[in-house]
Amino acid sequence: GMNTIQTQETIKKDLDYKAQVACIGPAGENLVRFSSIIAGRRAFGRGGAGSVMGSKKLKAIAVSGGERPPENEKLAEAIKEAREALKNALSQEWNLITLFSKYGTNAAMPALNEKGMLSTRNHQEGVFEGVNKISAEYFGKHLFVKNVACFACPVACGRFSVVKSGPYAGTETEGPEYETIYALGSNCGVDNAEAIARADQLCDEYGMDTLSTGVAVSFAMECFERGIISKKDTSGLELRFGNHEAMVKLVEMIAKREGIGDILAEGTRRASEKLNKGSEVFAMQVKGMEFAAWMPEAMKGIACTFATSNRGACHKRAIIGDEFSGRVDPLAYEGKGKLTKEIQDKVNAIFTLVGCRFSEFTYPFEIYPKLLNAATGMNFSEEEFVLVGERIWNMERVFSGFTRKDDVLPERCYTHPIPSGPLAGTLVDREKFERMLDEYYEARGWDKEGRPTEAKLRELSILT
Ligand code: SF4
Repeated sequence: GMNTIQTQETIKKDLDYKAQVACIGPAGENLVRFSSIIAGRRAFGRGGAGSVMGSKKLKAIAVSGGERPPENEKLAEAIKEAREALKNALSQEWNLITLFSKYGTNAAMPALNEKGMLSTRNHQEGVFEGVNKISAEYFGKHLFVKNVACFACPVACGRFSVVKSGPYAGTETEGPEYETIYALGSNCGVDNAEAIARADQLCDEYGMDTLSTGVAVSFAMECFERGIISKKDTSGLELRFGNHEAMVKLVEMIAKREGIGDILAEGTRRASEKLNKGSEVFAMQVKGMEFAAWMPEAMKGIACTFATSNRGACHKRAIIGDEFSGRVDPLAYEGKGKLTKEIQDKVNAIFTLVGCRFSEFTYPFEIYPKLLNAATGMNFSEEEFVLVGERIWNMERVFSGFTRKDDVLPERCYTHPIPSGPLAGTLVDREKFERMLDEYYEARGWDKEGRPTEAKLRELSILT
């Protein structure tokens, strides 16, 4: 029953105040399907790993120790090179990393809104009228206290924030970051930054993924507005878009599995199966994982990434930067299958080093195998390093048994064009999407049904 902050403090007090603790909160104990693992105030957020720990009755893992690894000149040199690349990026005014350092990951929200790409009211629209009240500028002016960094990172994109007055006074959070502000903000029609910060804090303390939580709330709001559920189902909550009090309350109900929170704690796919009445059309999830803050209608690379990602509607291995900046036409389908395959393999490989996703915006790619080789004494070329990512992707695909029938977006993306703003009328064209999938499977060396072929599995030494 202890929340994640109390858990960490208690273990550190008992064990060693320098210990590092990864733990779950009440949401993980209650097997909320999108519960997360929390370390400090950072979350291993998506995919429900918290409920895996909860199912094993594993509350926390703590490590402590004082020995340093042996001196390694090659590694020191590679780290120096990586840090130089970061410093160089940070010295440029219009680099994404500089913006993250100055304003946090929410830096681009108004620009996204201007382009009509800010997912709003459960993904029904791409423009949010309240964007200026939840922008980085607003948070910076009213809530921001100081930058926070992961260990030794000079970017420090985290933003320790405190609500100083009003109904949410006393709220403290290491964020909220962009994806959280979308999920609990524009996507719920909420333009109250302080309420978003409170919901973010609750998610961290209960140990829940802010994205899936926000999308579960927005799904329930749409169900309420469409009359699929009523006040008698919501314990009296007036669950309309924009009602920030109801949003904050529902976050707690999900974590505790109280009332309708119990249904939503199962995720939107299962919740829509239970509530029925056509709600599956707007359960914004793929393979059971809720949407991250990007619109497949507005960026076809995101359509391909969300559909094919092994863990569902995940944005971590996508060509977002290229599509957002216009380096690649965001509305084009052709070529996106191949580009998606390439970024998935590359980022997958980087994640084996527990590398930050944002590092890929600045590091020359050769730095990763260099770091790996220096640290381990192995001898990976760039191509061999990328193959590690490809091998993982194929292993996951075989293990999960996913095929073409699983690589689908929610019906809303194909049938409900964006209603207003610069992208009015845009949707995902089903035929073109299927052709993009064909291109993706071909680039992967999979068959037409999206199954890894025997030849591909042998090439990757998965089959011998
Ligand atoms: S490691 Fe990544 S997430 Fe952490 S502070 Fe640095 S840039 Fe931000």
